[in-house]
Amino acid sequence: KKEVIVVGAGLAGSEAAYQLAKRGIPVRLYEMKQQKKTEAHHYDYFAELVCSNSLGGDHLGNASGLMKEELRLLDSLLVRVADETKVPAGQALAVDRHGFSEKITQILRNMENITIVEEEFKEIPKDQYVLIASGPLTSDALFTELLTLTGEESLYFYDAAAPIVSLESIDMNSAYFQSRYGKGEGEYINCPMTREEYEAFYTELIHAERAPLKKFEEEKLFDACMPVEKIAMSGEKSLLFGPLKPKGLINPKTDKMDHAVVQLRQDDKDGKLYNMVGFQTNLKWGEQKRVFSMIPALKQAEFIRYGVMHRNTFINSTKLLEKDLSLKTQNNLYFAGQITGGEGYVAAMATGCMAAINIANKLQGKEPFILEDVTAIGALIRYITEEKKKFQPMGPNFGIIRSLEGKRIRDKKERYLEMSRIAIEYLKNKIKML
Ligand code: FAD
Repeated sequence: KKEVIVVGAGLAGSEAAYQLAKRGIPVRLYEMKQQKKTEAHHYDYFAELVCSNSLGGDHLGNASGLMKEELRLLDSLLVRVADETKVPAGQALAVDRHGFSEKITQILRNMENITIVEEEFKEIPKDQYVLIASGPLTSDALFTELLTLTGEESLYFYDAAAPIVSLESIDMNSAYFQSRYGKGEGEYINCPMTREEYEAFYTELIHAERAPLKKFEEEKLFDACMPVEKIAMSGEKSLLFGPLKPKGLINPKTDKMDHAVVQLRQDDKDGKLYNMVGFQTNLKWGEQKRVFSMIPALKQAEFIRYGVMHRNTFINSTKLLEKDLSLKTQNNLYFAGQITGGEGYVAAMATGCMAAINIANKLQGKEPFILEDVTAIGALIRYITEEKKKFQPMGPNFGIIRSLEGKRIRDKKERYLEMSRIAIEYLKNKIKML
């Protein structure tokens, strides 16, 4: 039987290895973490979540929620384990990051068809099926190999991660538990600020010292991870409509809406750690402590992890890839995950799943498994593989999913629910052909 090499046991690679192995295809899974870790990976586990512990919305009025539902139908290992290790997060699916990765690692290590090679993968053999899922921080050696192979300029930009504080160090005399607009079970910790406190904080934030960036840093930023100081610099009120938005929250101590509110979200299963929502930053660590401690509830905060910014790498998939995620010029070489420009955790799982199904189909002499753009997965893959002048990475969203034909539903929520219903019905039928 032909063996498939999967490079990277991240979100895409772990899902792909599972999908291949469960179809009886032997997998050689390369992961370099034991030897060396990227700037964003800290643990030896597979499928590590490098920033937020949230996988986004988990309902059918949300495109990421629809994509997860589609993945459930495709028997996704990662979404199943996410469901099993979830922590309270309102309408989102957030997980205990350690429990999630640990469980996936255990399952993959115990699968009969998977051989794990804990080394950096540097050279792509021509005569074997290979899936590259080495992520936004692909090692330099492999990146150079990819440049030579594709003959295309790959693109670089920076991502940002938010700080994490310990629950016990948060001043709950100042902060309070509540969910925005009462949606969810009040699981967020809210840190209020008065106008004076906000203004003082704002001034320090925009003047704080930032970590030096490399020469290509300013090119593009991952939208959902725009650094908080960068948002602040676009205007004094910008934070009040962004990460410090007070709307939808009533301070139970005053029965009023505060001037500004920093939200904290549970980051681990035991609820001992909280991340600062929307506070991805490139400030120097000492500056993070100084400036973020100006938030009254965080005056004595213990920072378990500081925010950081990272390189992000992706290929120009619109020119290079077929819809089955194989390279146009070498159809035994496939790509999945952030490196395809499919953006975010769930998109990585989805492209990993689809690339694996397509490799399996090819090995078994079956037709490619291409989903139409009525589905969140099909729409995303179409978007990243379709020619366009300027390619920007893309995550799940209703804007790229095919709109309803012959039907007008004015209410956005109702429309999205109907689109989701169609997607699920379509996918259920399509799966019968697998
Ligand atoms: P990864 O999960 O990074 O997996 C790639 C794996 O390949 C890693 O384990 C790595 O060690 C390994 N590897 C790399 N090169 C080699 C090699 N040559 N040989 C062997 N192994 C190799 N998305 C979100 O949805 N939410 C967020 O909050 C978010 N925050 C992010 C923060 C940062 C700092 C970064 C960099 C990205 C963030 N992303 C976020 C984007 C993206 O969704 C994640 O990076 C996601 O993990 C991508 O999945 P992946 O499988 O493509 O890559």
